[in-house]
Amino acid sequence: MGSGLTGLSAAVRLAEGGRSVVVLDRNEIASGASSINGGMVSPDIKAGVRAVYEKHGPEIGRAMWDASVRSVELIIDHAKSYALGAKIINGGMTGLGTRPGDLKYFETQVGWYREQFGVDWEVVGPDRIGELVGGSDSFNSGFYEPEGIGVQPAGLVFGLAEAVAHAGARLVSNCPATSTTLNGSGFIVATPKGDLKAGQVIVATNGYTTTEPIPALARKMVSIGSYIIVTEPLAEDEAKTIFPTNSMSYTRGRLLNYMRRTPDNRILIGGRRNLHPGLDLEESAQELRGQMIGFWPSLADKEITHVWGGRLGVPFDLVPHMGQEDGVWYAMGYAGHGVGLSALLGHELAGMLLGEDPPSVFTKVPHKGRWYYRNRPWFLTPASMLYRTLDRVGR
Ligand SMILES: Cc1cc2nc3c(=O)[nH]c(=O)nc-3n(C[C@H](O)[C@H](O)[C@H](O)COP(=O)(O)OP(=O)(O)OC[C@H]3O[C@@H](n4cnc5c(N)ncnc54)[C@H](O)[C@@H]3O)c2cc1C
Repeated sequence: MGSGLTGLSAAVRLAEGGRSVVVLDRNEIASGASSINGGMVSPDIKAGVRAVYEKHGPEIGRAMWDASVRSVELIIDHAKSYALGAKIINGGMTGLGTRPGDLKYFETQVGWYREQFGVDWEVVGPDRIGELVGGSDSFNSGFYEPEGIGVQPAGLVFGLAEAVAHAGARLVSNCPATSTTLNGSGFIVATPKGDLKAGQVIVATNGYTTTEPIPALARKMVSIGSYIIVTEPLAEDEAKTIFPTNSMSYTRGRLLNYMRRTPDNRILIGGRRNLHPGLDLEESAQELRGQMIGFWPSLADKEITHVWGGRLGVPFDLVPHMGQEDGVWYAMGYAGHGVGLSALLGHELAGMLLGEDPPSVFTKVPHKGRWYYRNRPWFLTPASMLYRTLDRVGR
């Protein structure tokens, strides 16, 4: 259940592999994060595989890195095979520094990734940052990952949904799964539209995970809001001044901003005022507009034409997880770095169920909740305040 990139990527492989597949969604098909995200895709995971190396050892760390590289390739494959309308932009990915210690931090981090994986990433200081992101005095440093790409998210996920239907699967909208019960060697999945019998069940609900159908999952996942605005289209020269190489970009920090140029030369900027999902869109738009003008004062007279928001699924360790609860498989926990990884985890989980793939590395790190969390995230307000302070002092 769940018709985002995780669920649909699993469904297309299972249906093409000859399985009888039904995809249920609580809302409209593909109306979760997968159709409304920033479309920025690059290797690595939110926690950084360096943290996985240090906590779970080099074998798991390296395997997770390799998987994250495959996730970028899979998005390109999915776009080519199923979603020709989802334009891929080969502009790379730029991490941007705004605080005094950021250049040093980038040099240390990039040095580690170069040594471990031989990446071809470049660190730039104040003299060259304008080559990557221009028209701003806010950025003092950055690092550039050439393998980063941009994709048009709605085109990708709706193309995938069409391919799932083409492969013979059924997609059912406005049909939440409310419980699953073991029934012999399979399951009964309860929904308001009636019960379904299934041999295997996959939960792919990420930031929209609730206590239904698996209460234990809701205790391991925190939903956090992410919001986006876009400007009216700019003249091509003006948009190119800001993003000369068409790179996807984000600032270093916990309450970070992510930004890019869209194919029709709008400036897109995303982020959040605080961590709560369901913030007021007008207020979020005002906040993001203020941040955008802080970076690029020349955009002050541009109209904001769209604002929207959605939910990120955040596990406590910021590592994506695949596993089983009550016999049911699940894949989730991308923490805002999920366009490539959601597609990959769905694809790998389907490969495991078909008996074609070995266990994914994402099954190998224990997925733990916290004793103080029972699906009521009371800590979002204090955490937002703490993160804002840490971001300000550059920690
Ligand atoms: C505003 C925003 C910007 C983002 N930008 C980026 C970005 O630039 N790069 C990046 O890598 N990541 C980004 N992300 C994250 C990325 O979009 C997600 O990690 C990814 O799309 C998750 O896909 P998914 O299929 O697991 O979940 P989703 O696409 O969120 O789908 C989950 C689905 O589960 C359904 N559901 C929930 N409960 C049930 C139930 N009981 N029964 C049936 N269905 C149910 C929901 O209705 C929903 O449709 C962004 C996210 C947001 C919100």
